Amino acid sequence: MGLELLFLLLPLAAVSGWIIGRRGENRRQQQACQEMTAGYFKGLNYLLNDEEDKAIMQFLALSESNEDALDIHFALANLFKRRGEVDRAIRIHDTLLQRPAIDARSFQRAQLELALDYLKAGLFDRAESLLLEVHQQPEFRQRTHQHLLKIYQQEREWSKAIAIATPLLEELPQGRIPLAHYHCEQALVALHAAANGEAQQQLRCALEVDPASVRATLLQGEMLLQRGDAAAAISVYQRVERQDAALLSEIISPLKRCYELIEEEAEMATYLEGLLQRYASHTLAIAIARGRYSPSVQSRIQQLLERFLLHNPSLHSLLFLMESWFDPTQSPSPQEAAQRPFSCEEKVRQLQRVANQLWDGSNIYLCHHCGFQAKNLYWLCPGCKQWSTIKPQLSICGSWNR
Ligand SMILES: [Zn+2]
Repeated sequence: MGLELLFLLLPLAAVSGWIIGRRGENRRQQQACQEMTAGYFKGLNYLLNDEEDKAIMQFLALSESNEDALDIHFALANLFKRRGEVDRAIRIHDTLLQRPAIDARSFQRAQLELALDYLKAGLFDRAESLLLEVHQQPEFRQRTHQHLLKIYQQEREWSKAIAIATPLLEELPQGRIPLAHYHCEQALVALHAAANGEAQQQLRCALEVDPASVRATLLQGEMLLQRGDAAAAISVYQRVERQDAALLSEIISPLKRCYELIEEEAEMATYLEGLLQRYASHTLAIAIARGRYSPSVQSRIQQLLERFLLHNPSLHSLLFLMESWFDPTQSPSPQEAAQRPFSCEEKVRQLQRVANQLWDGSNIYLCHHCGFQAKNLYWLCPGCKQWSTIKPQLSICGSWNR
């Protein structure tokens, strides 16, 4: 501890020397500066003797009489905070705020720092009210905005997050993606309360701030499908191709339900064929393969997938081909197994088990920001808390029918 603080405080000796020189013409001032220098050395001495509390009180008392000392106190508090001694940082910032002579800017700075102390200590309510006060000052707005959003995200206070993020969109255009998710979260809250009109409104807002919001599109499609408007839902789901083709695998299952409702599965097969031709994606192919189709289109989709997977070999394609050629629910009877213990079919079944294990152990979704891997799609990355950074790993890999 002593060394770090010493590096911080040593320049003070020089500063006080300079002050003495500058004000040297006035004897009274000269005497005051000498007292200040002596005071600092007294404080340093406390630090060297590990009497930190006395040192802090000494430095704080000195800053009462000297504006130049403020920076030292901010640095001192930061140092304590970095060492995990948040209560000490809080005490320093609190004392600074109670100084009658502190100027407006330093007051706001101390407020902001105290809010960050509270954040670190997990006292979100206190942090929020201080941050909201400082947020009024344009100079601090970008920083307070960022911390307020963290609090609201943690507390799932989506309407407050929207209120803070919306006015800053022009200044911070990267805020569009999180803001769209806040609207989607609000839409989910509204859906939970059966307030469908409000949910629709929130989804419209989401798409307005981020036209590429696949999440808003998926939620819109789901609402239409629940209402039984399958035709409208289809055109909403098909929008994902223009928004973010890497997430196309997410629409396959609901889209299938839509086409089944309007009994247009042949049309669906055509659409899926087109998708696979435009985007040679294993994730997409696997999503298509997971569906159970009616006999009218089953063989067409089967052929389509086999053609795709044979042209794009991978663990997934191997697994799929084995699954489609050998039904795993029909294992051979004990008599059959005894007659031909090492049959070709059995070998393929073993292969299938191995491939299945590999597939179970592989994560399909990947965060492009921090590398977090997951089996499910998360809109908010659990690793780095960024929105929309998780995508299917094996997505578009070029056209397969060139
Ligand atoms: Zn991440």
